[in-house]
Amino acid sequence: MNIILCGPPGAGKGTQAGHIVKNFNLYKVSTGDLLRDEIKNNTDLGNKIKSKLDQGLLVSDDIINNLIVTILSDKKYYNRLIFDGYPRNLNQAKSLDLLVKKYNQKISCVLNLNVDKKSIIKRILGRLVCTKCGLTFNKYFNPPNKDKHNCNLKYLKTRTDDNENTIKNRFETYAKETLPILNYYADQKILHKIDGSREIDQIYVEIRSIIASLET
Ligand code: AMP
Repeated sequence: MNIILCGPPGAGKGTQAGHIVKNFNLYKVSTGDLLRDEIKNNTDLGNKIKSKLDQGLLVSDDIINNLIVTILSDKKYYNRLIFDGYPRNLNQAKSLDLLVKKYNQKISCVLNLNVDKKSIIKRILGRLVCTKCGLTFNKYFNPPNKDKHNCNLKYLKTRTDDNENTIKNRFETYAKETLPILNYYADQKILHKIDGSREIDQIYVEIRSIIASLET
């Protein structure tokens, strides 16, 4: 099965993806992480896209589609992907449908985490990401204590686009570009709406039961 995790910035997609990957033996594909890696490694692509990420705007569909083709065509990931933060607009959703068909796979479900804007801002401003293992924490709501995280504390960083100015743009981009994909997946009868304002564990219990009920 391939799964899509959707929702506004800061809705908890990365955190839930971490749980899902661990329990269902799936691989997480976060287009945001892939793009940040390019920037960190100072590649040509990284230099080209940096300003888009800094402004909270989407990078071009061609760039994203190329990243996705590389992953979907890799047999290692065959039907075992969880997409976090992709697709981000209708064009990407339609391209993904063509690609899964081409590589003889399918999207089994789309999980949309819904959270109100006020809570999201609090969550984003407290977010800490481990640059070593990729897990996401929150200074206030989900601190990275020893039970949950083994890496050295020096790896915990704040994302450069987690500031109040960029958050505003990212939220607007989400409302304008990404929200329309929900109807697209509702029409395909694979959309599940999830109240993402609850505790992390409560949300995960619901997600786990949805995924467990899917045919593999
Ligand atoms: P994220 O880590 O998902 O919050 O993404 C961080 C930033 O990366 C976004 O604000 C966009 O600039 C860019 N980005 C991530 N995924 C995509 C995508 N699927 N399409 C276009 N831009 C993306």
